[in-house]
Amino acid sequence: MSKYESVIGLEIHAQLLTESKIFCSCSTTFGNEPNRNICPVCTGQPGVLPVLNKKVVEFAIKTALALHCQIAPYSIFARKQYFYPDLPKDFQISQYELPLATNGYVEINVNGNTRCIRIHRIHLEEDAGKLVHAGSDRIQGSTYSLVDFNRTGVPLMEIVSEPDMATPEEARAYVQEIAALLKSLGVCDAKMEEGSLRCDGNVSIRPVGDKNLGTKTEVKNVNSTKALKDALDAEIVRQIKAVDAGERIIQETRHFNENTGQTISLRSKEEAHDYRYFPEPDLVPLEVSKEWIDEIKQGIGELPAEKIKRYVEQFGIKTEDVETILESPGMAEFFEGAIRLYGKPQIVANWLTGEISAYLNAKKLEIKNSKLKISTLVGMLALIDKGTISGKIAKEVIVKMLDTGKSAEEIVKESGATQISDEGELIKAIQEVIKNNPKPVQDYKDGKKASITFLVGQVMKVTKGRAKPDLVNKLLEKELS
Ligand SMILES: [Zn+2]
Repeated sequence: MSKYESVIGLEIHAQLLTESKIFCSCSTTFGNEPNRNICPVCTGQPGVLPVLNKKVVEFAIKTALALHCQIAPYSIFARKQYFYPDLPKDFQISQYELPLATNGYVEINVNGNTRCIRIHRIHLEEDAGKLVHAGSDRIQGSTYSLVDFNRTGVPLMEIVSEPDMATPEEARAYVQEIAALLKSLGVCDAKMEEGSLRCDGNVSIRPVGDKNLGTKTEVKNVNSTKALKDALDAEIVRQIKAVDAGERIIQETRHFNENTGQTISLRSKEEAHDYRYFPEPDLVPLEVSKEWIDEIKQGIGELPAEKIKRYVEQFGIKTEDVETILESPGMAEFFEGAIRLYGKPQIVANWLTGEISAYLNAKKLEIKNSKLKISTLVGMLALIDKGTISGKIAKEVIVKMLDTGKSAEEIVKESGATQISDEGELIKAIQEVIKNNPKPVQDYKDGKKASITFLVGQVMKVTKGRAKPDLVNKLLEKELS
């Protein structure tokens, strides 16, 4: 048992899925040629004025409601001032005092235990641009850098938790929960690897039972929930070693190196006063009416936590399957549609979370953009039920269905992959296997009953998986007796 415990709080930056930027009408489309999505406002030219995008506020309110926050009827934007080449105005418009929402919570599930993590605040801000370092992916080793302002002014929502997480596992579960929630609300696509969801972890240690917080460090550069967990694990180990060696923890920002699994010091952590925040004079205070909040509330559908509960209760499927289904956009609708046509929820869930998810993930596809239709999936399941194809063959058929959009029937007809139900044909295959495998056959006859499994496998091989294993087993036993 360690004599220390860790305390973790997270800041999540979520890129909101609006078509235009937060303070101008430039497009937010990702991947355009550099410096195409820009205008005088987002590049900080003199004499221009920002105009707040209403959709951005709506998305933030939606999130705040789903996270049980109090929404401020009156909040203000502020200038956060710092100098960096990716920030053309030399300040970022953010919210400091009086953020849009405060005091919420979210429930997370870790190893079967439910924990409540409090949300400290949610505020809005604009993103900065992006530096492209020539000859290197970092500033070190690069001879010059270029700046791309396409991302400048893209709306960000920052969700700040209270330091309520005790372990890196809880931190990971928290980010997964928030990501699922944002996706289901349709406000953010939450792709950590593409940077549309970014996460910084604040972590400190203290002697077990101590109520005071230790000095925290901030861990940056994690682009997956696994990297977040690994980074926090590494940082906790480092802090414990340092404290045990009599060193003092310094408040600083640390960079996680995924290759070495270590965190390294990046810079000493800024204090809020370093940014000389002051109210943004070019924007009026943001006033949110109760009527508008009510209207947005009406538009929020079922939240992931509610959906998980309902699926488990109503359909009796496994919680982890529900989570996989909800992670993929459009899959819940597909799932419910298939159940309406076919029933058997766990079988549908197994296919969706197994072969179909594997295919979609490999191709970076969403199910609604794939060639698979609810009716064709149900058609394939019916062929398995009728015994026309085996479950094993079906795994190949589903890939062809996803590739071509054809029905299972068409594919089976073309490839002749139907199950062999003609016993005569099967017996021929069995006799061939018996002839070619004298040793296992003798073993079986000598009482080693387990060797029949091997022979069944050989028959399946000869018939290219088109036989029913239980029928093969039965016929083999007969032949060998
Ligand atoms: Zn612009």
